[in-house]
Amino acid sequence: MTTTELLDFDRRHLWHPYTSTVSPLPVFPVAEAHGVHITLMDGRDLIDGMSSWWAAIHGYNHPILNAAVEKQLRRMSHIMFGGLTHEPAVELGEKLLRILPPSMNQIFYADSGSVAVEVAMKMAIQYWQTEGKTSKHHFATIRSGYHGDTWHAMSVCDPITGMHGLFSGSLPVQYFLPQPPIRFYDEWDDCAMLPLENLLENRGDELAALILEPVVQGAGGMYFYHPQFLVKARELCDRYHVLLIFDEIATGFGRTGKLFAWEWANIEPDIICIGKALTGGYMTLSAVATTKSIADQVCSGKAGCFMHGPTFMGNPLACAVASASVSLLLESNWEEKVHQIERQLRTELSPAVTFPVVREVRVLGTIGVIEMREAVDIERMQAAFVAEGIWVRPFGRLVYIMPPYIINEEELHVLCRGLLHVIAKCYGL
Ligand SMILES: *Cc1c(COP(=O)(O)O)cnc(C)c1O
Repeated sequence: MTTTELLDFDRRHLWHPYTSTVSPLPVFPVAEAHGVHITLMDGRDLIDGMSSWWAAIHGYNHPILNAAVEKQLRRMSHIMFGGLTHEPAVELGEKLLRILPPSMNQIFYADSGSVAVEVAMKMAIQYWQTEGKTSKHHFATIRSGYHGDTWHAMSVCDPITGMHGLFSGSLPVQYFLPQPPIRFYDEWDDCAMLPLENLLENRGDELAALILEPVVQGAGGMYFYHPQFLVKARELCDRYHVLLIFDEIATGFGRTGKLFAWEWANIEPDIICIGKALTGGYMTLSAVATTKSIADQVCSGKAGCFMHGPTFMGNPLACAVASASVSLLLESNWEEKVHQIERQLRTELSPAVTFPVVREVRVLGTIGVIEMREAVDIERMQAAFVAEGIWVRPFGRLVYIMPPYIINEEELHVLCRGLLHVIAKCYGL
């Protein structure tokens, strides 16, 4: 198949994320990827700024991760988890319990981030049902969040960017609080908690849980808020008997500078969701963890069990590579590496604030964000990034990067320089 034939079939028959079939945005055919380098079919080499949406923290085609997949492949790539278990699932579980919040004790493996969020929300509802509190089946969250594209996950995404208007009437109605107004690096003020306190006081008996992306809101706005919000939210949730769910699907595995973002606040959620970088970006897998007492309560009702069980639950291939990826991360000097990347991002991206089209530049961990004043022309900017030899995928007003942790100083320099260069070029600066 020639590249032209490939692109032609793709354009006519394959749907891409958030893309129209009427006028699809162009796509670039990839031949292979190694480390932080993506090779297009025409031979061009791009430095990866996206980690394939937070996932490929060790870069592509890592020999240790490849070996883990190959070894497991020769044993079994999949076996049902109903009535059977296996070493990859157990080994991964042991490793996760060592790094998740200490009170976490029960792990539920799921297929993707969105499914993990569904599972967490279902758990929270079943928890209150077994207590006889059937009115507690709504959720509270903050504006500008993103929790996935499935039904209940979508109901707690930002109502505008999550397009609730489009699905109004069929989407469950949840309670939205303002985005936490105090930013990560600003001075804390308890006033920020008033909306949550009011909501919990008035609607606590309808609420199963408060669901949050701790500290960093990802796809809903790339916004970093003050960790004290989480400390106070924990206190309020306890006081008003509402469970607290942390969605660490994007923030997990070192991305923000801590292994998990809850560590910035040092308070524990009742339920936590992880995904994305869990397998080092090799394949889809997520997990939901909770405490023994919540899990047991969930299973104590009429049903006598938690009502969920995906076909590919605990997929051995995914568990094996996840297990290898977690070890690879923990045995590396990831913390130092993340801080190095953070420093360099800060130095090299901050000149962008002088561009009149730029509203703000912000950096946390290995996340570098250039927020524009207006939405960008993705098609034009994407092509300019590729011409520049870097892979960056902007959305809305956000031009951002979160490279694999293995990126070296020179590669990161090329990425940052390219970013500024493309913005300057696209706006004739
Ligand atoms: C990506 C993401 C999800 C959804 O994960 P999928 O694997 O795409 O279903 C949920 N929550 C957060 C915070 C995410 O970043």
